[in-house]
Amino acid sequence: MDDILANFKRVQLCHQPTALEEMPRLTKALGGPRLWIKRDDCTGLATGGNKTRKLEFLMADALEAGADMVVTQGAVQSNHVRQTAAAACKLGLDCYALLERRVPNKGQDYEQTGNVLFDHMFNTQIEFFPPGLDMNAEAQAVTERLKQEGRKPYFIPGGGSNAIGALGYVSTAQELLQQCKAIDLSPKLIVLSTGSAGTHAGMVAGFHALGCEIPILGISVRQPEAVQIENVYNLAVKTAALLTDKELPHDKIIVDDGYVGEGYGIPTETMRMATKMLARNEGILLDPVYSGKGMAGLIGQIESGQIEKGGDVIFLHTGGAVSLFAYEDQFSSLHAAE
Ligand SMILES: *Cc1c(COP(=O)(O)O)cnc(C)c1O
Repeated sequence: MDDILANFKRVQLCHQPTALEEMPRLTKALGGPRLWIKRDDCTGLATGGNKTRKLEFLMADALEAGADMVVTQGAVQSNHVRQTAAAACKLGLDCYALLERRVPNKGQDYEQTGNVLFDHMFNTQIEFFPPGLDMNAEAQAVTERLKQEGRKPYFIPGGGSNAIGALGYVSTAQELLQQCKAIDLSPKLIVLSTGSAGTHAGMVAGFHALGCEIPILGISVRQPEAVQIENVYNLAVKTAALLTDKELPHDKIIVDDGYVGEGYGIPTETMRMATKMLARNEGILLDPVYSGKGMAGLIGQIESGQIEKGGDVIFLHTGGAVSLFAYEDQFSSLHAAE
């Protein structure tokens, strides 16, 4: 297979390929289909996660633009900000991060531990914001101000989700197909959690460019289905346009919004159950905001029969376990007996 990313600028930040592993005990516990996990939680940079893939392309663009710093934004416990800050350190750039207080009713710990602790470790300049603003617009305004002050800032949108960042998930799409081919595996479905849309969009664009018809199910962690489908589709179209002239059919984007619960970052019972189930059957840590809800979606669809028993299904683990420390109350000894 030719490398469809050979002509794009890229810096090396990831441990890759990430492992594709079987989950025999989880498969047994659920009674099939055969479940696999693609370990993009193990991309290596500052405890890893999906944003590192995107940053290989975004940081290459920043360096080419002559940047001396990056500006980005996220929720307080943003995995994206933590990985961006680490990448900036590795490349000798400064990092300025706008953190939105998006999740209600969180205590002091939430703003100090987990990802925020690591942001400080990487010397990130942090500014907190109230919820509900257009955070990309806020971050662009900060970028402009820093330019006026004589800096060379490079703006990275929330989640690293633009067409350049989504190329990171074209790289996973390509890598995963090579791994499947090597072990003669033909999965009937890929399941992942979807937020700022770059991961889902990049996977769809990659499969489309490579002529692969395996469906990709996005479990929404924030937006209603119709909104998330449009967000993913619009970004997938832009990303695919960098790779192929073939038109991307709208019906390639599949989203289930049934596992969001009350909102972004707000724990759900199905997330808690899924997170414990993965830990206790496979020794794998998920996170409360993204992969825990994504796995809740996979388990829920198997239990409801939407995903049928036969065949092979791959869960894309996007990382995030660092934020477990900011959700200690959800998993502490109070719940240990469950
Ligand atoms: C950001 C993130 C996601 C969602 O990826 P998007 O590209 O923003 O849709 C999923 N899981 C984890 C752990 C994340 O940090």
